[in-house]
Amino acid sequence: MTERQFGQQQRRRFETGETIFRQGESGERAYIIERGEVEISYSRSDGDVLLANLGEGEIFGEMALIDNEARSATAKAAVPTEVFEVDLELFQRHVQTAEPILSCVIQALLDRFRAFQQRVSSADLDADALARLSSERLSDARHQSPVHQQALTELKFEHELKRALSTDGREVQCVYQPMVSLKEGRPMGLEALVRWYHPELGTLAPDSFLPLAARSGLMRELDINSLQKACEFLHKIDTETSWKSLFMAVNLSGDHLSDDRIVTAVQQALETYQLEPHRLKLEVTESELVREPERAREILLELKALGVSLALDDFGTGYSSLSYLNSFPIDQLKIDRTFIKTLTTSEQSQDIVRAILSLASAFGQSTVAEGIEHPDQVARLLEMGCDVGQGYWFSRPLPPAALMRWLEDRT
Ligand code: C2E
Ligand code: CA
Ligand code: CA
Repeated sequence: MTERQFGQQQRRRFETGETIFRQGESGERAYIIERGEVEISYSRSDGDVLLANLGEGEIFGEMALIDNEARSATAKAAVPTEVFEVDLELFQRHVQTAEPILSCVIQALLDRFRAFQQRVSSADLDADALARLSSERLSDARHQSPVHQQALTELKFEHELKRALSTDGREVQCVYQPMVSLKEGRPMGLEALVRWYHPELGTLAPDSFLPLAARSGLMRELDINSLQKACEFLHKIDTETSWKSLFMAVNLSGDHLSDDRIVTAVQQALETYQLEPHRLKLEVTESELVREPERAREILLELKALGVSLALDDFGTGYSSLSYLNSFPIDQLKIDRTFIKTLTTSEQSQDIVRAILSLASAFGQSTVAEGIEHPDQVARLLEMGCDVGQGYWFSRPLPPAALMRWLEDRT
């Protein structure tokens, strides 16, 4: 056997019949065959069983690196063979950083394979015995591990969310929170906030499923569902109450800022529910603008061209700089609730809110203060010159029927 160093990895050459690793040894590396052929065989008391003949470009010896178990078979060079070694650390890093569901599936396959192999080792290899072994339940204690349970739960949850969105969307609905003129206390608009009415788990708030929607590529569908429901509800308010000119704010995830399908979706929703475009407000967060700023700017300009208005959500918590504010077509800043929470107790919060208000005024933008819970905060914001507020002090987010009653009470 000869070795050649290639940085951290090595190439090795094995002569015909030479053992690369033996069944039962601990595994320290996996191999990629660069030239030659490798036989993988399994030793039983009554002799060796050939499991596989591998050729150029194939990987072997990786199983022991995934689960830290001993080698389950022996590898020998069938002809003069050159292999490229991948060391344990490098390989395990890939396995550990793999998507949890994938690593769970890999682990399950591996466990089943090993358990099956173990049984085969002590059984007579006639067809009946094999069939019996295959149908027996294999021990799967490892799948009870919290990580795997979590991965499987997530997989089911993702499937349920997809189903909930693709059926009639009855399970995924919006609640609505009013935004109120601080001066007159009059409702100005609503923000649509998604809720998942899960058949078993009850009402789920966005924090418990938005990250999953983002990871599984369902965010666009979810936002468009909220957009349609919100526009439909605004149309209902227009036709059934005396509040005819409220605006509706809808949250958009960053995914839309790299894909202009949102423009068509917005246009369709406006047409379907006969809404004046300026009454639809799309909220995006600062941090999502900076991911692909050039593309985001193009899409926001397309949306703006439809006549809708754009708000920057959670303002003050992200990374915006003055140049950003200037280059995106933003109509409104929503002052993040962390600053409002400490507004009456922290000088620093007051300074920040004052700075945001003067920035907005310099750029001709309006402002909304989020998370108002006390009348003291309303008084302070009024002194500072903030236009509109939102928060539990005025109303919690309400389901459509309750929101209609809330509006009627203020007619
Ligand atoms: P957000 O856009 O900042 O929405 C405001 C959140 O603050 C809402 O939480 C609301 O219930 C909560 N809130 C309102 N007033 C108060 C208050 O006075 N005090 C406190 N402590 N909280 C208040 P919610 O409904 O859990 O939504 C959380 C986030 O989920 C939203 O934050 C928004 O980023 C996201 N979200 C909600 N619906 C959608 C949607 O349809 N699409 C997308 N992409 N994101 C959504
Ligand atoms: Ca928002
Ligand atoms: Ca916010």
